[in-house]
Amino acid sequence: MRALRAEVDLDAIRHNYRLAKQQKPGARAVATVKANAYGHGAVQVARALADEADAFGVACIEEAIELREAGIERPILLLEGFFAADELPLIDSLRLSTAIHCEEQLALFASYSFKQPVDVWLKMDSGMHRLGFFPERFVEVFALLQRHPGVATLGKMTHFARADELSCDYTRKQWHTFSETIASLPGPVSASNSPATLGWPMAHGDWLRPGLMLYGISPYAESHPLADQLKPAMCISSEVIAVRDLSVGEPVGYGGRFVTTAPTRVGVVAMGYGDGFPRQAVDGTPVLVNGVRTRLIGRVSMDMLTVDLTPVEGVAAGARVEFWGSDLKVAEVASYCDAIPYELVTKLTRRVPLFYK
Ligand code: PLP
Repeated sequence: MRALRAEVDLDAIRHNYRLAKQQKPGARAVATVKANAYGHGAVQVARALADEADAFGVACIEEAIELREAGIERPILLLEGFFAADELPLIDSLRLSTAIHCEEQLALFASYSFKQPVDVWLKMDSGMHRLGFFPERFVEVFALLQRHPGVATLGKMTHFARADELSCDYTRKQWHTFSETIASLPGPVSASNSPATLGWPMAHGDWLRPGLMLYGISPYAESHPLADQLKPAMCISSEVIAVRDLSVGEPVGYGGRFVTTAPTRVGVVAMGYGDGFPRQAVDGTPVLVNGVRTRLIGRVSMDMLTVDLTPVEGVAAGARVEFWGSDLKVAEVASYCDAIPYELVTKLTRRVPLFYK
């Protein structure tokens, strides 16, 4: 069997979920498990949190169906609502909660007769300018939905564009717009993704919506005392499959991007862009070989990549290579790949088997 694998630590995910909830005692938290739980396996993550997550957040009905079919009974929220009329009977029968963010969704929702009322989160565009009603319209739509028999609880939600920038005032501005508009409206409030959960207590509301932090990944570029308490949940590792010694002036890999400037021992590792490792990775992207930090050299190919083994003592084929995990943070790796950590974990392909502990 090819050695490439992802190990997922479900205890770490539980720890990280609890850390989110500790930020506002009494608040509830939607565990965001969209995109296959950011690559960590939605069903397994939801099962690991099944006794304590107040709800799960997904991006589309297919993701909700997967969880219900796996026996997940907790509330599930469609974070972006639905996309077509034929989803409404499923929302009804699967007891899903839904966001409503636009006139089209509102019209579809209003014309459907639910067998049992569902929880609805009305979404405001407080400044992200992606989804949601503008504040002026929000209040009118809220009043319409309050009277709708298909609505059980009506909540108010918004989403921040720049909460990861702790010294930037834009989150304060968004929160001000949102909280002013909803001040006299009843029902629960939800605004905080991971960076706001850890860094913007003013915006916590009643329901947090952590995603990235559940997987032990800091939402900030700089170090942060709370983010430092997160436990990375995923470790990606593989093995050296071939070793070669090159003299000075030899190119490595497609395009000869890297050329040796000293005698170099090159390790070929079973991991490529066909597995989800970003092809944009530059020479110098860190990797761990037998626990020793070294670097990627040469272009990433589909099934393999090449690393500099020169600094690692006595290494041979079969040596363990770690791409990210507790000792090498995925965010650092992403910074060498013109990417964000969200991309690295969600882009792993099905060639990378997930193992749980
Ligand atoms: N809430 C909504 C509406 C989202 O779209 C997302 C993810 O993008 C989240 C919460 C979780 O965000 P994060 O992963 O930054 O915590």
